[in-house]
Amino acid sequence: MLPKNTTTSLPFEIRQSPIAGLGAFAVRRIRKGQRIIEYTGERISADEAARRYDDGRMTRHHTLLFEVDEHTMIDAAVGGNESRYLNHSCAPNCRAVDQDGRIFIEAICNIQPGVELTYDYQYESDESPAEALERYPCYCGAETCRGTIVYPW
Ligand SMILES: [Zn+2]
Repeated sequence: MLPKNTTTSLPFEIRQSPIAGLGAFAVRRIRKGQRIIEYTGERISADEAARRYDDGRMTRHHTLLFEVDEHTMIDAAVGGNESRYLNHSCAPNCRAVDQDGRIFIEAICNIQPGVELTYDYQYESDESPAEALERYPCYCGAETCRGTIVYPW
């Protein structure tokens, strides 16, 4: 069973993040495996995403596109919820789970109040490591930071 309403009582709040812009921070303990929020937005084709955002690959990290599969994207700029504020980290405490094409953000460890919620965006890219580092830099600050949100090249 899918949760009927994932946004009535969010376990996080949105505020300034040291990683980038705004981020999502836990306001209460979140247990490992807990489903936190659905990544919502308009479901569009990869072609439509490319039209909408000029060159999807180049600008994807500035957009709110989530790639469900090679044909389908979720554009959180249209009808998206608070899930779009979760930043990328190379050492994340959440992950995106695909359940029949719907995307849910789920905790992969116990998370204490005040901790920023992150997941690995795992952008696919045809670029070389050097290009990926330049075009899609990561500022997550993790010791294991790979320097870019692209994964794996
Ligand atoms: Zn990083």
